[in-house]
Amino acid sequence: MASLKSHNKKEQDLSLTKNQKIVLNLLQNSSEPLKAYSILDSLKTEGLKSPLQIYRALDKLEKLGKIHKIESKNSFIACSNSNCARNTAFTICESCGNVKELKNNYLSDGVNELIKKNKMSITRYNLEFYVLCKNCKTN
Ligand SMILES: [Zn+2]
Ligand SMILES: [Zn+2]
Repeated sequence: MASLKSHNKKEQDLSLTKNQKIVLNLLQNSSEPLKAYSILDSLKTEGLKSPLQIYRALDKLEKLGKIHKIESKNSFIACSNSNCARNTAFTICESCGNVKELKNNYLSDGVNELIKKNKMSITRYNLEFYVLCKNCKTN
């Protein structure tokens, strides 16, 4: 059964490999989403030299809900909630490009209901809302 309450799910295996930790750390310290090649660029000095190493680490971290992919930007961002392996929602500012992860419990309920009404069951979602952020709105 697919559950939308990914936040309540038990923490998954947290024993990350060295490479996964390095990639996660980079993303957690970045103020903006990063593309795979710029992750590769930044981590060359850390001994991660092949794109495959980066892609493997990104793939695993994404599955664990530690990072998310921003599809429209083809970039990755560290999860700012606890862990959301399946369902994510982001705002992307159309003016400055600032990306923010939404805590989306209310949204999950609404989406769940909508899908149920159509006699389907949802497995995952990845939403991106285009907005004008606080700073850009007042300018
Ligand atoms: Zn998240
Ligand atoms: Zn903005």
